[in-house]
Amino acid sequence: MTESKRVVLDCRKHPNSKCSVTIAGTEAEVLEIGEYHAASKHGYAKGPELRKELQSFLKEESLVR
Ligand SMILES: [Zn+2]
Repeated sequence: MTESKRVVLDCRKHPNSKCSVTIAGTEAEVLEIGEYHAASKHGYAKGPELRKELQSFLKEESLVR
């Protein structure tokens, strides 16, 4: 358990999004939940392309405060 730093995915940062959801956790957790959220709430197709896009929106939690 070396990698426990948390990252934040802020849905408001996405240009096409009007939702205010923020997801925080480890990168793997955030990508998993973010993928589900983007697919179920925003109509994106799940897959590596979506994860890559989500990854570009991740911010380290310590930098968000
Ligand atoms: Zn959203």
